[in-house]
Amino acid sequence: MFDNLSLKLDRAFKTLKGTGKITEINVATTVKEIRRALIDADVNYKVAKEVTDKIKDEAMGRDVLISVSPGQLLVKITQEELTKLMGGSKVDIKLSGDPAVILISGLQGSGKTTFTGKLGAFLKKNGRQVLLVACDIYRPAAIDQLKVLGEQIGVEVYSEPENKNALQIANNAIAHAKKTGKKTVIVDTAGRLAVDEQMMQEIEQLKKALNPSETLFVVDSMTGQDAVNTAKTFDERLDFDGVVLTKLDGDTRGGAAISIRHVVNKPIKFISTGEKMENLDIFHPDRMAQRILG
Ligand code: GDP
Repeated sequence: MFDNLSLKLDRAFKTLKGTGKITEINVATTVKEIRRALIDADVNYKVAKEVTDKIKDEAMGRDVLISVSPGQLLVKITQEELTKLMGGSKVDIKLSGDPAVILISGLQGSGKTTFTGKLGAFLKKNGRQVLLVACDIYRPAAIDQLKVLGEQIGVEVYSEPENKNALQIANNAIAHAKKTGKKTVIVDTAGRLAVDEQMMQEIEQLKKALNPSETLFVVDSMTGQDAVNTAKTFDERLDFDGVVLTKLDGDTRGGAAISIRHVVNKPIKFISTGEKMENLDIFHPDRMAQRILG
């Protein structure tokens, strides 16, 4: 499909061959094709326009070498621009403090609890002692879900099913972690189907009190423009450190990665590609750029 786009771009260029130069005139149609490809991949229209304007500037005046078709050249420039837009290279999570606290935020159904388990497994594999904390006090099933995941990955889960005070639970969990020598505490929080004031205040309070070394925002990549709006709202309230993009095993090409990065300017740190605990990858901007272009 990657070739598809360069073929389409070649067609748009029609006659430009060999050592011709890319000019304003012959690049215009091509840029439209690129914009369409980005929008097809779920990139927000405004963002796609800004990106393609940049690509146009970047491409102008470049020589088309005999060995490279103008389509291939444009795809390469586009890929470079998209990679840059998504931060250029991967950004690791910060793990400081004893224990290091990681706060997980996001809407219900985004994949928070699943990701909490996956991150636990990932850190365990990297040699860290981990404690998972069930702080979703509104959804008893979330506690059971986390316990099942904890068992599966061999990581302890702290919960207080009768306690309705998330901050108290988290503080008790941290005390428990200190006592039992766990160096990392991952706190799974409550989510609602839509942004809700009570939920926001609760997680804001958790962040202030726990002073996590990393606050992550989990978002379903299939939700398109909504994902961008939710990211903006959560960032305004939480000033999170990074984004986790989930459900990339679905049929989305992942354009939300570009839109979110562009709107909130926070790095995407992980991507989730399935329901299984091993379906977690570190986010690499260059790989995502390839995926977005098809
Ligand atoms: P939470 O409400 O945010 O805690 O979301 P959950 O972790 O319970 O996930 C909601 C649903 O999405 C569950 O059925 C998960 O198995 C599923 N899920 C989570 N992450 C992924 C993913 O990356 N891919 C797919 N296909 N499903 C996922």
